[in-house]
Amino acid sequence: MNKVIIVGGGISGLSAGIYALQSGFDITILEKQNIHGGNSTSWRRGGYFFEGGMHWLTGSSKENPIYKVWSNLGALDDDVSVYNRDPFLTYLDNGQNVCLYRDVDKLEKHLLSISPSDKKEIKTLCNDIKKFSAISMPVMDIKGVTVKYKDKQKGSLSKLLKMLTAIPRMISLNKMSTGEYADRFSHIAIRELLKAEIPEGYDATSLIFTLATLAMGDGGYPDGGSLGMSLRMAKHFERLGGVIKYNTLVKKVLVKEDKAIGVLVDGDEILADAVVVTVDTLSAIDNLFDEPLHEKWMDMMRENAKPSMCSFIGLGIKADLSDLPENMVMTFDQPFSYAGSEIYTIEINNYSTFKGYAPEGCTSVTTTLIGDTYDYWKNAKEQGTYDDEKKRLAEAVIDRLSTKLPQIKDKVEVWDVATPLTYERYCGTYKGSWMTETGKGSKMITYPGASEEIASLYFAGQRIQPPGGLPVAAVTGRTAIQYLCRDTDTVFQGKM
Ligand SMILES: Cc1cc2nc3c(=O)[nH]c(=O)nc-3n(C[C@H](O)[C@H](O)[C@H](O)COP(=O)(O)OP(=O)(O)OC[C@H]3O[C@@H](n4cnc5c(N)ncnc54)[C@H](O)[C@@H]3O)c2cc1C
Repeated sequence: MNKVIIVGGGISGLSAGIYALQSGFDITILEKQNIHGGNSTSWRRGGYFFEGGMHWLTGSSKENPIYKVWSNLGALDDDVSVYNRDPFLTYLDNGQNVCLYRDVDKLEKHLLSISPSDKKEIKTLCNDIKKFSAISMPVMDIKGVTVKYKDKQKGSLSKLLKMLTAIPRMISLNKMSTGEYADRFSHIAIRELLKAEIPEGYDATSLIFTLATLAMGDGGYPDGGSLGMSLRMAKHFERLGGVIKYNTLVKKVLVKEDKAIGVLVDGDEILADAVVVTVDTLSAIDNLFDEPLHEKWMDMMRENAKPSMCSFIGLGIKADLSDLPENMVMTFDQPFSYAGSEIYTIEINNYSTFKGYAPEGCTSVTTTLIGDTYDYWKNAKEQGTYDDEKKRLAEAVIDRLSTKLPQIKDKVEVWDVATPLTYERYCGTYKGSWMTETGKGSKMITYPGASEEIASLYFAGQRIQPPGGLPVAAVTGRTAIQYLCRDTDTVFQGKM
């Protein structure tokens, strides 16, 4: 067993590829685009650079076990600077801005000064954040695999104890949505900050985990952002001897006598000893095989996964916005309508201080409107109004932003809109989604990452472990290769 094909060159594909090379396999990644990274990407329009796949990265701090995974993948090391934005998020008020600081004591003091009547809820929020601090997603080895490097996680016992004391609170927060948690505050700024931090449909555990991640000095923005990170990983992969074939669309995974034997590309069969599928699992199990696959865990995924998706708007603004916060939320008196909803609040990322993101004196700004608008855009496509609707959305956003930020009025020279259809076309993900919503009452599910009925077939990617995102992509790539090693009696040699 030697030759392995990896379908997809996103973060999970690159991760699987690097771990597999380190364990001695002969690896080819087949990627349908002309570039690696998948959702972890950014692009230029008219001189502006739009960060499109990473706002913050779990595991950017050395204290988080996932840092070692990023480091093994060539994504992070001592030479890669990581920017920890603080305040992480700011509510733009006419009078006084309200900030989500990373430091919990500072946050508590600040929020109390803004809204003394919310004292009880502010104290609870800050206690929750403290309780969840020092809990990180562990990086586990699967049962039955032999690993060359045993990782002793620092302070594991004290972390375990801390985790145990947080469990009752996790259970009660899991019964509440982020929206419900936020709505307990009387002050609009606090409510909107919390809802902007994590979409309001997610359970409140996700919100507090996110805030705790930031409080621990994690969740930074590495140099080069999403594209820079995938570029470092792709280079590392190639340095280790891996091959990436771009512009190569895999049509089918070939299965013979209940074993994956290769893939079909443009009518040609490429044979291999094993196949690792890193395309969104939800889409792959329906589309990449002769018949949709129906193993128990796959049907469970079909039933439970609630895809999270967005419309992305990038703006190139001929104005220097460096006097404004880097990440801000604002509420409008007059909403605009979009896909059947009234939008009152927008969160924007202001990249004015990032070198190379915009021409001198100009600013690249991005915003995402989270929500399932897939059918809306599909319908617009079928009706022939897709481009007009994109324009209408961009203009509505620019118009409302101009009411809050008069310095941008008539200064937007570039706009770009990506819809769920864009993501679907670009990455082949289910409905163009790039994470899974862990709503209230949702269970912490991790799907196996290896087929139970087809030998030599493995899965990795954001969908394998809700809510997904970059760390899950990286870690599930590692896990898939541990299954491969286990099944082939190979020692897993990744340094983490
Ligand atoms: C706007 C936005 C903001 C985000 N912000 C964050 C953030 O701040 N933090 C965070 O952790 N995550 C964030 N994410 C999510 C994160 O980017 C994704 O979850 C992650 O990149 C998914 O990686 P993946 O490898 O699992 O899948 P993908 O990125 O979907 O990679 C799959 C790859 O397979 C390729 N492919 C698909 N079909 C085929 C085929 N048939 N043949 C060959 N190749 C194929 C695709 O082109 C793609 O390269 C964000 C995503 C978006 C869109």
